[in-house]
Amino acid sequence: MAKGRDKDQAHKAAVAALGKNLSRRAKSKCELCETGGKLVVTEVAGPRPEAAGDDPSEDWAALLCDRCIDLVAGKKVDTSALRFLETAMWSELRPVQILAVRALRTVDTAWAREANDGLYLDPEVEELL
Ligand SMILES: [Zn+2]
Repeated sequence: MAKGRDKDQAHKAAVAALGKNLSRRAKSKCELCETGGKLVVTEVAGPRPEAAGDDPSEDWAALLCDRCIDLVAGKKVDTSALRFLETAMWSELRPVQILAVRALRTVDTAWAREANDGLYLDPEVEELL
């Protein structure tokens, strides 16, 4: 069991170590909603292309605020405050786009459905959702 925990610790440390570069990329703002404040490196869950491997990587992580961490974790958040997803879903940063589109598709409102209808995604991104 200890081995699993060590691996978990090493993984967490490697994720945290992405923070410096991600802060630069994110300009110290949440990469989904662009608010400042306390930001945490969040890995993109779910499938990756085989070539991407399983190691923590900037390509599979984003810097998020507390609210957006709850959002991507599937917790209930105030949907009226989520219009930033309409912008974030077009992000050229794939991890940000994936998180934004996944979150958007959990929001059951007219604007979210409309945004999703108007969204064009690369097939290879669509596969990762
Ligand atoms: Zn945020």
